[in-house]
Amino acid sequence: MTKPIECHPIQSTDVPVVPIRKRGLELVRDPLLNKGSGFPDSERAALGLRGLVPPRTVGIDDQVGQAMENVRRQQSDLDRYLYLENLHDCNETLYYRVLLSHLNELTPIIYTPVVGQACTQFGHIYQRARGMYFSATDAPHFEEMVGNWPEDAIEVVVVSDGSRILGLGDLGANGMGIPIGKLSLYVIGAGLHPRHTLPVLLDMGTNNEALREDPFYLGQRMPRLTGDAYDEIVEAFMRAVHARWPHALIQFEDFSNDQAFRLLERYRHRMLCFNDDIQGTGAVTLAGILSALRITGQTLTEQRIIFLGAGAAARGIADSIVAGMMGESGIGLEAARRQIWTIDSHGLVTLDRLDSLSEHKRPFAQDSVPHADLIAVIRAVRPTVLIGVSGQPGSFTEEAIREMHRHCERPILFPLSNPTSKAECTAEQAYEWTDGAALFASGSPFPPVAHGERMLVPGQCNNMYIFPGVGQGVVACQASQVTDAMLYVAARTLAGLVGEDSLAMGRLYPDLTLIREISTQIAVAVCELAFAEGLAGIERPDDLDAFIRARLFEPRYVPYEAA
Ligand code: NAD
Repeated sequence: MTKPIECHPIQSTDVPVVPIRKRGLELVRDPLLNKGSGFPDSERAALGLRGLVPPRTVGIDDQVGQAMENVRRQQSDLDRYLYLENLHDCNETLYYRVLLSHLNELTPIIYTPVVGQACTQFGHIYQRARGMYFSATDAPHFEEMVGNWPEDAIEVVVVSDGSRILGLGDLGANGMGIPIGKLSLYVIGAGLHPRHTLPVLLDMGTNNEALREDPFYLGQRMPRLTGDAYDEIVEAFMRAVHARWPHALIQFEDFSNDQAFRLLERYRHRMLCFNDDIQGTGAVTLAGILSALRITGQTLTEQRIIFLGAGAAARGIADSIVAGMMGESGIGLEAARRQIWTIDSHGLVTLDRLDSLSEHKRPFAQDSVPHADLIAVIRAVRPTVLIGVSGQPGSFTEEAIREMHRHCERPILFPLSNPTSKAECTAEQAYEWTDGAALFASGSPFPPVAHGERMLVPGQCNNMYIFPGVGQGVVACQASQVTDAMLYVAARTLAGLVGEDSLAMGRLYPDLTLIREISTQIAVAVCELAFAEGLAGIERPDDLDAFIRARLFEPRYVPYEAA
């Protein structure tokens, strides 16, 4: 049973004094230990800092105020990104304190959409090394290279090959901004310790010729590897990481579809790994649907679902829904899949197209007459849920939504394409065309909509609700795999955290500012399941909730003494 939600964004309890070996400038230059102007007199005396930092000791909340003044003073979002990354490189405690206390304002800067701009210009704005680069040309040295990283206790590695960065395509080694940003979200969201995270870019070359010719491009100037050569590099990387950090979660991020599905299948039962674009998207969308069903009082198995778009997100969501139906009602795999219709750029995905379909689309091919457009499919299927993952703005037309509403009292409408300009319809349109009946969530946020007397609050189907909690859960108990059942339990936990008041406003997800508490409860649920499934690598602590809470990194200055 899910606990009622309470918010402890920044907890503070008594903390023991930490013995420190570093002194003087070496200490000030270590971003994980630095306090900047925040070193108290006692530490200045004991750690050789006198004269090396400004005379007055500034409290962390004043430092946050000063940092925010600087963030807001910048001329562009990219400048704000750069300011924050600079802070990240100088003082991680303060960086995370700033982010946690200004979550809604700053997550769009450190992650989507602004991180996309940063990636396109990565070589031009590059300032300081962060994370590790594994280039195809270094493959014989991967085992030795993992030894170059100074930290023994890595818990989460986020890796991208830069082949499909957000909606921006192949950005090669410039994709490094994504693992860096995603790991910041892990720290904010689920309290992973920054010391235990490692961003990685697998440099397989790039087919982006403009980048290869850019004088400031930082990756290898070679066409992207494919086939066996590609697979051998990934294998060498996975083995090297697993050998050095056997309990680390390896999260695949922004790999192109031709690689993403294969790699996930190849490694998911061998190592602790996870693909957020596929599995995280699946779980967070399922959670939104489960919340909507709390309003309609229906079951998941009763739903007929159409996807516009049949890529990574569609497959991840469809698999999660199928797992949810099977868990809920005992329905078989094939019967559950028949409740789902997918449409790609060539029309409805049907069995007569099987030969030309990519592998990931095949399980959802329907034995149906081909339909070229969405309205025809809606007429034929009479869906209760319509999900947009096509990147085609405006493709949920008034005619299509009204047609759906004709036979479905409370249409569940999820136009998930990002950014806002790509959404298949807006929140206002969805409510207007269904006379306020739509149960709505989108990929990018929309403001609340006044509808008659009511204020309707659109949900944001943000992966950040799921992956930090799942990651914290699996690494805390040293699970050997991330299973579908863990993702299902994460989705159910999230849906259970939406209060009745929120549901009354049509809101399908909890407030994102409660992310620490949300992730904690998801982590506890995931851990519980790992122990029940026999997949945990440690003995079960008596109090799992306390065990998880004790692991959370809190961005505050701990007292130091000379070691
Ligand atoms: P993808 O490139 O793997 O898939 C896109 C799919 O859309 C492909 O199957 C393509 O055939 C189809 N498509 C293109 N044009 C079409 C058309 N005119 N009609 C029908 N289908 C068409 O991309 P993806 O990773 O699956 O992401 C798709 C969208 O979902 C993106 O905009 C992404 O931002 C969004 N997304 C949202 C979330 C979230 O809300 N949490 C998570 C992941 C992805």
